[in-house]
Amino acid sequence: MRHIAVIGSGPAGYYTAEACQKQFGDEVRIDIIDRLPVPFGLIRTGVAPDHQSIKAVSRRYEQVALSDNVRFVGNVSVGEDVSIEELAALYDAVVLATGAPADRPLGISGEDLPGVVGSAAFVGWYNGHPDFADLDPPLSSGEFAVIGNGNVALDVARILAKTIAEFESSDIVAHALEALRLAPTRHITIVGRRGPHQIGMTPKELGELGHLERARPTVDAADLPPEEADAALDPGQRKSVGHLRSFATLGGNGGDKPVTVSFDFFAKPVAVEGDGKVERLIVERTRLDDSGAAVGTGETYAIPCGMVIAAIGYKTAPIPGVPFDDKLGRFANEEGRVAPGLYAVGWARRGPTGTIGTNRPDGFMIAETIAADQPEPAGKKGRPGLDALLASRGVDAVTFRDWQKIDAAEIGRARSGAPREKFVAVSDMLGARG
Ligand code: NAP
Repeated sequence: MRHIAVIGSGPAGYYTAEACQKQFGDEVRIDIIDRLPVPFGLIRTGVAPDHQSIKAVSRRYEQVALSDNVRFVGNVSVGEDVSIEELAALYDAVVLATGAPADRPLGISGEDLPGVVGSAAFVGWYNGHPDFADLDPPLSSGEFAVIGNGNVALDVARILAKTIAEFESSDIVAHALEALRLAPTRHITIVGRRGPHQIGMTPKELGELGHLERARPTVDAADLPPEEADAALDPGQRKSVGHLRSFATLGGNGGDKPVTVSFDFFAKPVAVEGDGKVERLIVERTRLDDSGAAVGTGETYAIPCGMVIAAIGYKTAPIPGVPFDDKLGRFANEEGRVAPGLYAVGWARRGPTGTIGTNRPDGFMIAETIAADQPEPAGKKGRPGLDALLASRGVDAVTFRDWQKIDAAEIGRARSGAPREKFVAVSDMLGARG
């Protein structure tokens, strides 16, 4: 029997398990280990709570989880409860599918002021990640600067901009819903260091911004390249830029809607200022050089705000004993190989870009790599070995059956119209197992 441990139960983890099932058939046992007592990683705590159709992909992972040769082992932290070396001794292959859960620093002065928050923390807060339950973001000024021109910046801006009624069929957690209800939100500025043609926002997500109840997007037409230049873009990007063009024709400052979401392009953050808390973001106007990089012009201006959310990309969290590439913010690897018997997939392998589906080919590639590296299993202990180790340390591991009870309890306590009310504290998740 071949034993494989996958660390991380998000998309990359489940696609890897599915691929290994297909690759090795009945001759494999796969343990999916997660630090949290609940599965699905970014599907649960990263995908926006008002994007339930995207979250529905977890049903596919459920089918994998319920098959005989796959097991979920939750509430087990690799690097604390069990080391990489111990897993390597127990399993033929250990696959790191831990994603990129940490914020990259902005690297500008004032970034330590209270009120500067990374998107991993802010998204984790409204999505009920236990690590960020106590974030208490300062929403009271009603003015926000969101740095970055990717889909995460868009998610953050939209969540800030929506009315409470617009969250009806979402699974946003109660503490965030209440804080957003009390927030006097007026102005959200999305800050991009480059221009409209360089955005990382996809058309469907950008289009949503034009249909919000109380908020209206604005773009300064002067920032848009001549329309004929759009012909050189790929069709998706052209559609996204088309949305920006339509936002520019709306003009004005909010019109009949009380909240504005304005796009400030060619604006590179250079400092956060304020007296003991965030009061403004200072940006430098930029132009693009021949390589498409943003170059400062020396001209600066201030964006008044009480909170800055940096949505500028993520990095993987290092694990003791695993080679790490500090510059790229992910595990050091050659096409997924980290060390003999140790592999990386998904964002932990290639960095934080791509959609959920991008992880599927990753999983299949790594299954083939494992098969090529290890034609025959080495007779390792696998599951019974892990169970004995965890029991000897008093680790309270959570099974998929346990998760199904937690799941049912979350669905049972949902507010009217909502798909679930997530438990946020690990103790509450564990308690819901009955
Ligand atoms: P992203 O698409 O890489 O966007 C990061 C943004 O931050 C870029 O605009 C980048 O600008 C900017 N940036 C980086 N460093 C900066 C700095 N020091 N100062 C100012 N700006 C800086 O990453 P993301 O938004 O975190 O999303 C990660 C992945 O998840 C993406 O592939 C995204 O599409 C995906 N995602 C998808 C969905 C969805 O489909 N609904 C939702 C969320 C996320 P430059 O371009 O100039 O580097």
